[in-house]
Amino acid sequence: MIPEKILSELIQINTSNPPGNETAAARYLAELLQQVGIDCEIIEPAAGRGSLIARFGAGPRKLLYISHLDVVPAGDDWDFEPFSGKIEGGTIHGRGAIDCKDLAAAQVCAALELAREGVSLNGELIIAATADEELGGELGAGYLTANCLEKIRADFAVNEGAPHPLLIKGQPLYFIQVGEKGTAWSKLTVRGVSCHGSMPALGDNAVVRMSRAVAALAEYEPEIVLIPELLALLRELSRIRGLEMEPTPDNIDELLEALELERDFTEMLRAMTRMTISPNIIGGGVSTNIVPDLCESELDIRILPGQNADYVLQELFKLLGAGVETVLTEYREPTFTSSQTEPYRLMAGLTGELAGPGAVCLPIISTGSTDSKYLREAGIPAYGIGHMAPDYDPAVSATMHGRNERIDIKSLRLKTDFLKELARRYLA
Ligand SMILES: [Zn+2]
Repeated sequence: MIPEKILSELIQINTSNPPGNETAAARYLAELLQQVGIDCEIIEPAAGRGSLIARFGAGPRKLLYISHLDVVPAGDDWDFEPFSGKIEGGTIHGRGAIDCKDLAAAQVCAALELAREGVSLNGELIIAATADEELGGELGAGYLTANCLEKIRADFAVNEGAPHPLLIKGQPLYFIQVGEKGTAWSKLTVRGVSCHGSMPALGDNAVVRMSRAVAALAEYEPEIVLIPELLALLRELSRIRGLEMEPTPDNIDELLEALELERDFTEMLRAMTRMTISPNIIGGGVSTNIVPDLCESELDIRILPGQNADYVLQELFKLLGAGVETVLTEYREPTFTSSQTEPYRLMAGLTGELAGPGAVCLPIISTGSTDSKYLREAGIPAYGIGHMAPDYDPAVSATMHGRNERIDIKSLRLKTDFLKELARRYLA
């Protein structure tokens, strides 16, 4: 079985979330794996919302390959049928082709090939293909870690989550995701005194005071934090660009401009060096002739590994003072796995071997989150990959969660080879 065939058939099983319907995709993969004697189990916490767990080999070492089976809804205006899985011109087309059915197909294909070749592993390869990742993962990885953690516990996990490779001055840069920012969504409330709008000085206008608070947030300069993995990444980018700049908290914004990267990538790096605060909802007032006594605003706040809820509340208090009530409405800790480990070194070395001479592998953290947050919170170190062939078309990356999602066969095969070889070496 070749990975492009598995991917094409997986795409044809519509797992748009909502409603998900991942059990059908889990069954499809289970049938393939069972044909070569690999044990499979489908955990289904709600009808149709199944996640697959497969286990292959035996021994003290344990390696977890995890991906998700659900996809975001396709939307309109595609140039091809989103669930066709059509293979044409060296490309597999359809929703899920780079998020994340490519990884699911590559992980399953790697196990199938190892089984077929009769490779005897001195350890266990566990494959988890989860439901519900796109809407937070409560019914997928969240359920597995809360209810059957021992079925997926491993020395480390390989998941999605890194950006696709970047080509700078002809040099391919590959990334391994080692952390994800946390969320600290907050609600601000300002209370004033209402009065008739014809004599506003009698009251205390909550909208005016909130507007000052929001203006202060826009001016806020968050503390710059360079975690060692990010420092290594920035140093390497600086070296490749031929800049003689050692990244420091003081020169970081200057360095980011000097690197002359794509805007998306620059802003991603900027967000990896600090907490971000974005006031995204504001509301107050009931009538044009009444001075409002209440105004509320909701902030999307993302924090770095090492920062926490107390830090957020302290910073908001310093900036806004006691006149603005602040509560966290949704909080999730950042997560992190060190790059100073045997698995990381093995993955980085293998990337260099497969991607060819000159390819560099660097650690990165994400501004958003994946199922890796559940794994890391449960004590399973997790690494995210976004490996593609060195000559892949970067335009493909923008199709994630967008129109015309697709992947080239060479990239899918590189992923498969990487995962096959990683399992072979780690579980040797
Ligand atoms: Zn995904």
